[in-house]
Amino acid sequence: MVHFPRFKNWPIAIGLSFLGLLVALMLHGAAPSHAEQQAPPAQVHPLPMALQKWQSDQQGDYFDQVKVTRVGYLVWSHFPVRVFVQPAPKSLPLVRQKWPQAVDQAIQDWQTYFPIEMTTEASQADILISAIDPTQRSQGRVRSAETRFKLYVDDQNRLAHRCTIQVRANQTETYIAAAVRHELGHALGIWGHSRLASDALYFSQVRTPAPISARDMNTLRRVYQQPTRLGWPVTASSPPANTP
Ligand SMILES: [Zn+2]
Repeated sequence: MVHFPRFKNWPIAIGLSFLGLLVALMLHGAAPSHAEQQAPPAQVHPLPMALQKWQSDQQGDYFDQVKVTRVGYLVWSHFPVRVFVQPAPKSLPLVRQKWPQAVDQAIQDWQTYFPIEMTTEASQADILISAIDPTQRSQGRVRSAETRFKLYVDDQNRLAHRCTIQVRANQTETYIAAAVRHELGHALGIWGHSRLASDALYFSQVRTPAPISARDMNTLRRVYQQPTRLGWPVTASSPPANTP
């Protein structure tokens, strides 16, 4: 069992840059937590029903581009995954008009394939989406959107994660929807990028954004067949043995 004394506070981000630069994975240090806990061993969860049912004539995926995080693959194990959409800031009245529809569209796109639902309680959300310009830069360029996750231990003592998606909202409704669709793909588990512009998880923003493709879904299904430490119980670490 790997010892994770500080796993509660590792935000990790992945971003969609304007010019399609590389996947950025970052690990930040964090203050050590008092109670040291041991992360559970990585195991495979049952495949969600929606992914069991997923069938397509189109073969192929980009699973080899999906990064494994320190806790394994970013697999959800409770369904539906709950999404909270923060209203756009009052200081941006034009954005406030198009923001809800654009985000709704992206969520509906995924609902065709995956059990996610909106929640009106931010505290209940697994994924939080906000119209905030991403802070991270990629080779000097501001990203158009970004997804991060944080780890915590849930009320059933399981290692859990929560994602935040930040999207630049001064774009057209179509581009906001495409950016959210792309970032939701990361948040649902595709922690990497496709090299084909016909996939929603293509690494760059393009003029005509792709819908969720068979390759996106084939990739997602493979992700959910992988082991993860998420969703399994943590154990308190035993005190160090006294050696004479
Ligand atoms: Zn991305």
